[in-house]
Amino acid sequence: MGKTLTEKIIAAHLVVGEMIKGEEIGIRIDQTLTQDSTGTMAYLQFEAMEVPRVKTKKSLAYIDHNMLQEGPENMDDHRYIQSVAKKHGIYFSRPGNGICHQVEIERFGVPGDTLLGSDSHTPTGGGIGMLAIGAGGLDVAVAMAGDPYYITMPKVVKVELTGKLRSGVSSKDVILEVLRQCTVKGGVNKVFEYTGEGVKTLTVPERATITNMGAELGATTSVFPSDEMTKTFLEAQGRGADFKPLAADADAVFDEAVKVDMDNLEPLTACPHSPDKVVKISEIEGMVIDQVAIGSCTNSSWLDLMKVAEILRGKTIAENVSLVIAPGSKQVLTMLAQNGALADFLNAGARVLECGCGPCIGMGQAPSTNAVSLRTFNRNFFGRSGTPSADVYLLSPEAAAISAIAGVLTNPLGKVKLPEISMPDNFLINDTMVMEPAPEGTQIEVVKGPNIKPFPATKPLKDIVAGKALIVVEDNITTDHIMPSNAKLLPYRSNIPYLSNYCLAPCDPEFPQRALDNGGGFIVGGSNYGQGSSREHAALAPVFLGIKGVAVKSFARIHKNNLINNGILPLVFENEADYDTISLGDELVIENALEAVKAGKAKLVNKTKGLTYIMDLEVSQRQKEMLLAGGLINLIKSKK
Ligand code: SF4
Repeated sequence: MGKTLTEKIIAAHLVVGEMIKGEEIGIRIDQTLTQDSTGTMAYLQFEAMEVPRVKTKKSLAYIDHNMLQEGPENMDDHRYIQSVAKKHGIYFSRPGNGICHQVEIERFGVPGDTLLGSDSHTPTGGGIGMLAIGAGGLDVAVAMAGDPYYITMPKVVKVELTGKLRSGVSSKDVILEVLRQCTVKGGVNKVFEYTGEGVKTLTVPERATITNMGAELGATTSVFPSDEMTKTFLEAQGRGADFKPLAADADAVFDEAVKVDMDNLEPLTACPHSPDKVVKISEIEGMVIDQVAIGSCTNSSWLDLMKVAEILRGKTIAENVSLVIAPGSKQVLTMLAQNGALADFLNAGARVLECGCGPCIGMGQAPSTNAVSLRTFNRNFFGRSGTPSADVYLLSPEAAAISAIAGVLTNPLGKVKLPEISMPDNFLINDTMVMEPAPEGTQIEVVKGPNIKPFPATKPLKDIVAGKALIVVEDNITTDHIMPSNAKLLPYRSNIPYLSNYCLAPCDPEFPQRALDNGGGFIVGGSNYGQGSSREHAALAPVFLGIKGVAVKSFARIHKNNLINNGILPLVFENEADYDTISLGDELVIENALEAVKAGKAKLVNKTKGLTYIMDLEVSQRQKEMLLAGGLINLIKSKK
């Protein structure tokens, strides 16, 4: 029986377990990446492991998230990461060099490699044929130390692309269509593998848009084959030697199938406040808009921005619109400057931002009150833009650019006739913004500013776990709810005591103080709890507040792993209706927690209501050890 590409890459990296769907396996990680907002904590954790040099083929530390310098905090974090990277064998991509996923595709991605990144959009690397997975910072620290990364052996979904995109329809519409079909819950423990004749028509940056936003499916990752298109791209990046052809076998057996007919695909948009609330733009066009933001790791490639330049050339943006454009990398921005596209942006009235995440996480360019903001990004969760009252719509660069001129949401189909934009034969290569690590053995001082606080320590699990239900939240709570990420808080990513004051505050501002006053307790939630980013802070802040268990209808994958890594019990109601019987302040207790973890089932007693709930603790043997030890770092230390 033939193999999928996913199975081939996993087989080549398997170090623990057997490739049985649903079972836990450990894979060797070739490359890692961090960005600054998760990186400080990941490197503090790496230092705690006392491993002198990374053991991966290549590890990269990018600075792209927190680039505002309103005070010393962000710059202190950058200095810390730069020094710790130099000391431990990690390449350092300086601020201004670009968004981690864009630069990774351009300069470092290698088909067939495994990549683990402390950023949920690490799957972008699947566009170049990597098995690229987002994880918590601690998982990345462990991978840098040379240990395997553990995942559930995924099911593989065949996404068959047929036909060819028409002018005005883009690869963003392909992933929006997949999200429409599969929803934000549709990808748990699955890899979305792209096949079919349509694949050949998509360039690597277009593929990377699709794998990037595949993260919104909740999938383990997404992957494209490595083919002639990949070869051409790598050669144009001066990296032809990194190419190897990779594809699923013709008789590969997939677990599920999705089809997208690109011939008949129409421009789509994801409506507020979820990436799967997808409708045709034609159904809602004409809506007056206030802001257009083009960029992010989803849509800031050279190709994306050349399309935008074609549309903006010789035009002026509407009076009611603020247009911002953030190129994805120094390479992209320099090439646009050299070929005149940058002048097209400026002449049209766009404001050009530095190469980074920026407005994607509310680092500047928050929309005005009650505004409609069109964004080429991947997420439109409530409040992520920095303005809770704003309505954010996600769409393609073509749709964004033409709407900026019209002043209303505009369907690009039929209105945009783009010339064929062929990829450059040679991208501009200048890696001077990537600092090489110091040779092994060199004395390097690690610089830690006063804002960098140690991560909260955890203790081994006790047999009685008791506390109040400190908050009861609904379905689809995101990591943006649990640990908000905005311009005011991002500078404190290495200061958990400060950040914890804002934990779950969008749901209930009094929760953090209540948790501290009660000496900790439980969080109760609905389904898909913890969806969204890989941010480990959404587990570390609850640790600091004394949270012992999170009882929910279901978890998002990365967040559940982050809870386990930090010694918090991930409890899932066997009977979902039990959720409705818990009220804020109910006294909850698990009386024999040690046995419960070993058995994979716990009795959670609601002493206030006189009820007992059966909770699943669906964790692997290795994760059981982690929970008993009080988290992964304790476990690693105990084994030393
Ligand atoms: Fe940066 Fe936004 Fe991409 Fe995250 S999703 S890496 S914040 S651009």
